[in-house]
Amino acid sequence: MPRRVDILGVPVDVVTEPDALSFVRERIRTHTPSRVVTVNVEYVMHAYKDSAFAHVLQTADMATPDSAGILWAMRRQGEDVSQRVGGSDLIWSLSEQASREGHRVFLLGAAEGVAQCAASRLQTRNPNLTVAGTWAGSPGPSERAFIVDLIRRSQTDLLFVAFGSPRQDLWIAENLLHTGACVAIGVGGSFDYVAGTARRAPAWMRDRGMEWLWRLYRQPWRWRRMMAIPRFVWRVTFGGHASSRLNKEDM
Ligand code: UDP
Repeated sequence: MPRRVDILGVPVDVVTEPDALSFVRERIRTHTPSRVVTVNVEYVMHAYKDSAFAHVLQTADMATPDSAGILWAMRRQGEDVSQRVGGSDLIWSLSEQASREGHRVFLLGAAEGVAQCAASRLQTRNPNLTVAGTWAGSPGPSERAFIVDLIRRSQTDLLFVAFGSPRQDLWIAENLLHTGACVAIGVGGSFDYVAGTARRAPAWMRDRGMEWLWRLYRQPWRWRRMMAIPRFVWRVTFGGHASSRLNKEDM
């Protein structure tokens, strides 16, 4: 198992993308139901005020570092990390691995038609990929039983869930064992990127840890959520209180 670092009470694994791929492959091979979370600054700051979400993150089977801010905080603890491991890259690499290994994948979430379109694009790049199913759906309780049954009948190995954070990770924690899927991962807006309904930041921005700025430019309504970033920097730099508070109250 990889080393874990505590970032304000949220564990994050010291892993690269190949490590995450091996982890998923192994969990599917051994039929071990597992949850993967891709942790960014908003996750950590949301966990600080939402103990249910904090618990979901603390009990995930793998937690990858998915933002420049998280990598920065890990480096402050002496870890030699420089690459983000996030849903919008993992959806491609995991699909490529799934096609090679014969794993079935299911795409749940995003707006009507987006998951279907993303699945077609993944199959265009990986002609041997078996898409067990897609469903737009929503994380609301009224659809829960139907969606769980749909996934169970699809017999998928790998489940991508795009309900946005924190809903996707809460949904996975509550439902994974009922779906029969082996590994589930919340991938945020990744279906939109794969389908082409949203554009990712240019590579030069991603490489410089500026994807948040691109998202703010494309989706200005995010400014309130993004206030998490300066608060995070402040807490990591000046206070260890968040971590001790979470550990006491939520674990
Ligand atoms: N979404 C959904 N159902 C909902 C809310 C959101 O399927 O009830 C989808 C939305 O269409 C989008 C994704 O969840 O495809 C969330 O994307 P966002 O960029 O907000 O996620 P983030 O990566 O910021 O968590």
